[in-house]
Amino acid sequence: MAEQNQGPLGVVHQQIAEASQLIQLPNTIETILKHPKRKVEVQFPVEMDDGHTQMFTGYRTQHNDVLGPVKGGLRFYPQTDEEETEALAAWMTFKCALVQIPHGGAKGGVVCDPSLLSDREIRQVSRGYTEALFDLLGPNKDVPAPDVYTDPKIMSVMMDTYSRMAGGHEPGVITGKLPLVGGSKARESATARGAVYIIEKMLEKENKRAEDVRVAVQGFGNAGQIAARLLYDMGCKIVSVSDSKAALYEENGLDIPRAQQAKAGNGLQEYGENYMLENNMDILYTEADILIPAAMEGVITEKNAERVKAPKIMELANGPTTPEADHILKDQGQQVYPDILVNAGGVIVSYLESVQNHMNYYWSEDVINERMKAFILEAYEQTEKSAYEHKTTNRNGAMTFAIGRLQEAMGYRGWI
Ligand code: GLU
Repeated sequence: MAEQNQGPLGVVHQQIAEASQLIQLPNTIETILKHPKRKVEVQFPVEMDDGHTQMFTGYRTQHNDVLGPVKGGLRFYPQTDEEETEALAAWMTFKCALVQIPHGGAKGGVVCDPSLLSDREIRQVSRGYTEALFDLLGPNKDVPAPDVYTDPKIMSVMMDTYSRMAGGHEPGVITGKLPLVGGSKARESATARGAVYIIEKMLEKENKRAEDVRVAVQGFGNAGQIAARLLYDMGCKIVSVSDSKAALYEENGLDIPRAQQAKAGNGLQEYGENYMLENNMDILYTEADILIPAAMEGVITEKNAERVKAPKIMELANGPTTPEADHILKDQGQQVYPDILVNAGGVIVSYLESVQNHMNYYWSEDVINERMKAFILEAYEQTEKSAYEHKTTNRNGAMTFAIGRLQEAMGYRGWI
């Protein structure tokens, strides 16, 4: 049954409930998993370029730290709020548990539209947020990272702010930094690359050639754009890509380098009028073998799931499919590969970044990609194995495996 709250928090609660039922999880643990350890809202002033002072609102939710310091992205997004942050923090807990890295889950957000801010204003917002949350952050407490509309420059400034306040260099307080100031190689492409490793493995298992696979990618930001490019380079046919303003479609496959050029110029529509879909959301209903939602939460719901045709949906965004849509897709014989698996490449390389920061020694791109691949493919195997054992969906498979590890850790640490 659908829970009343159908925002992202309702979605994550329903996912926890479904998985808990499958493994007959004790109520106490289910309750712990539905409640974040700490959530804070901060307000901080920023002096804008025109001289006036504007207040900004930020959030940080630390969901569960039984497996280690909490970790998770920070978004600069006009519509972000406390509820979204809490849901995303919970997904981070399950993601870290699933891929077996020693971290708990957290998430943060600042209510702002960075496209309307100057570089200096973005820097000041980054400093203001870090100052406001200083006491709660730290390499052994809470380690933020990039998310929607935040980038390595912002992470580097936040690391600088924290280090100044701490009175010493603290690169491990944040991941996703620029490599010159303690960032890891291969971090920016990691979220997309992780998904590509899974797709490669999947094709290998099914004895399929990349050339025969049609892919549609909804979202052309850091994750979606790089995924489209990597899959294009692998030989897949990228039949459709979209961002918040335009969707392109070409039955025989789009020229992705050209789409990237258009995006870097005036926008995807520059690729050519003839290739544009009338409605952006129509990308979800294109004839493709793999659909990759790589934008925001809640795009596949009970209202449109029936129209989704792709036999495989790989969630590169966090939370794109609601539980009702999951059930519809399952009944239609489609397979959803869940966000906590598919987009975990980012947090895995973030973990590898913090390991490098702690030892103050930095690995090559190849070493990092190889290590990340091992983590994510192990999680992929565990997801399918657990789904098979419980005769359930991949999402429930991933969630039950993750929850099992959290339950065990809570037992060892004497929480239950
Ligand atoms: N924001 C990313 C996510 O949702 C990365 C988090 C991290 O690297 O800590 O997984």
